[in-house]
Amino acid sequence: MVENTGVENTGSIEALLQEDRTFPPPEAFRRQANIQDPAIYEEARRDPEAFWAGFAEELDWFQKWDQVLDWKPPYAQWFLGGKLNVSYNCLDRHLTSARRNKAAFIWEGEPGDRRVYTYKDLHREVCQFANGLKSLGVKKGDRVTLYLPMIPELPIAMLACARIGAPHSVVFGGFSAESLRGRIEDSQSRVLVTADGGYRRGNIIPLKQNVDDSLTGQSPVEKVVVVRRTEHADDKMVDGRDIWWHDLMATQPLTCEPEPMDSEDMLYMLYTSGTTGQPKGIVHTTGGYLVGTYATTKWIFDLKDEDVYWCTADIGWVTGHSYIVYGPLANGATSVMYEGSPDYPDLDRFWAIVEKYGVTVLYTAPTAIRTFMRWGEEYPKRRDLSTLRLLGTVGEPINPEAWVWYWENIGGGRCPVVDTWWQTETGMVLITPLPGITTLKPGSATQPFPGIEVDVLDEAGNSVGPGGGGYLVLKKPWPAMLRGIYGDPERYVQQYWSQYPDIYFTGDGVKIDEEGYYWLLGRVDDVINVSAHRISTMEVESALVDNPNVAEAACIGKSHDIKGQAIVAFVTIKNHVTASDALIAELKQHVTTKIGAMARPDDIYFAAELPKTRSGKIMRRLLRDVAEGRALGDTTTLADPAVVEALKEQYGDDE
Ligand code: ATP
Ligand code: MG
Repeated sequence: MVENTGVENTGSIEALLQEDRTFPPPEAFRRQANIQDPAIYEEARRDPEAFWAGFAEELDWFQKWDQVLDWKPPYAQWFLGGKLNVSYNCLDRHLTSARRNKAAFIWEGEPGDRRVYTYKDLHREVCQFANGLKSLGVKKGDRVTLYLPMIPELPIAMLACARIGAPHSVVFGGFSAESLRGRIEDSQSRVLVTADGGYRRGNIIPLKQNVDDSLTGQSPVEKVVVVRRTEHADDKMVDGRDIWWHDLMATQPLTCEPEPMDSEDMLYMLYTSGTTGQPKGIVHTTGGYLVGTYATTKWIFDLKDEDVYWCTADIGWVTGHSYIVYGPLANGATSVMYEGSPDYPDLDRFWAIVEKYGVTVLYTAPTAIRTFMRWGEEYPKRRDLSTLRLLGTVGEPINPEAWVWYWENIGGGRCPVVDTWWQTETGMVLITPLPGITTLKPGSATQPFPGIEVDVLDEAGNSVGPGGGGYLVLKKPWPAMLRGIYGDPERYVQQYWSQYPDIYFTGDGVKIDEEGYYWLLGRVDDVINVSAHRISTMEVESALVDNPNVAEAACIGKSHDIKGQAIVAFVTIKNHVTASDALIAELKQHVTTKIGAMARPDDIYFAAELPKTRSGKIMRRLLRDVAEGRALGDTTTLADPAVVEALKEQYGDDE
């Protein structure tokens, strides 16, 4: 449980920032939205099982389920007795209509090369690769590790695994050989799929080299399939172990019968981002996961057959699993997929892609939006973004100023912004606007998705009610929820089910306003205790980002003899701004004005960059280590170790 220090401390988190701007659905959007009637919330609340079963009916089952839900906390089972195949639902079922020739993926490589896969193309390649995996001895239940760049072979390999019932374990291509080794060992994969390299910011990421380094000594891996992507010289194929993807595919039949999977058979495992500590290998199963991702994709992104949808996440994270691969394909959508970084060759690359393919729905992360703010408006202004009709964000709380910037500069003031809260563990979005119904408030993920019941509790487990703040929990199961941590049932219970009995603990703080809107406040671990006020880092950061000079901010609590903790802020400023003592004074005053004196940072440091996970989330625990002069905790999930090293040096000098 979270530490409880002050006398007046009731265990609630204080609501500080006031955000009064509201954005009802633009009329033109509302009129064409798939979901316009708020009555669906009540309908889903009355009978959630029937609500989810309704979506399940829209999918193809080899055998229908005989029970929707079995709930024995902390384990839920969904669609018991049902048999289905996820790749069949993502591919085969679209082949009987005109969708067969529709683009499933429009892919662009960082160097500017391009490939388009229709549903028929994707089906053929998936079947061939599934046969290829079988020829390597992969059987139902065997785990397969995928360590690939953002190239079409990644979703193809995932769907091929799903087709034969072999759970995949995707390891983000930015991870080092050491991180890969640990994940391979954890999953005990005998087959690994990789590429010679991938492109990132004009450089080649040496994936195959990392694989070779990770397979030294004892390893469960017997076969390595290698995609030829970068064709750089140093790819040494190991005799008897390594095989080129194209050689394997050349001889494979064009069809492969989908394996009928039980609803509760494992679909995949995937590690969390590692923002708060050691990453956890989260297990997802088949039926409920597909139903949950299918339903949320359809309603939240308001998908139509004509849409060009682009989720900019890497498939190495859960957002890519659920909202690039499984949700969009189950819906028969057309997705853009991009290999590289947003600043190559210039800072307008994302907007060039939107213009080129006529993207209509864009889903990205607050960290990206804050980066675009820092670069300035001139880059989106260079391009025609008029095809966009809906915007989304995920990954961290979005600061209201970043939200409004996104709304204005990318959405042109006409696109609803869906701020979607969820986790690797939840598998699907749980708190989100429905864009044709919800009046938006910048910085709030608004309401639980229909059929989802969340609660906000104080330390003692009491519901705090509107106007209060506390811990976000789920009391009822949802279809795509995790089924465990791979190979570690004890950690599963300890991590998620031990704070409150039979209640799922998200680890996130949240406040709920008088209208019942949810405002995510970041990790419970990041809450700062100043003189018995429990203050969320998120709100102080948002007050700082509200100042026009600031691009990004990270706040932490540093031990303080009198106050318990004192607030320290690390700030990055916009490209045209210069750091000065006057600006520090201005920023401290700005926080005092926006929130109040108790939230005024004691110290503000200018940073060139903030330490982030490889998925782009700010790692405040490392900043705490820096500020308190400790050795750094686990840094394996850190994107760029040089960033904290630089801060350590700077911090040491200033004290
Ligand atoms: P770890 O669990 O290993 O520390 P992580 O929690 O960052 O890593 P993910 O599962 O990728 O790993 O991220 C889920 C978390 O991201 C949520 O618990 C929440 O803190 C944050 N998050 C995601 N989307 C939102 C959002 N829209 N608003 C606020 N926070 C969000
Ligand atoms: Mg987490």
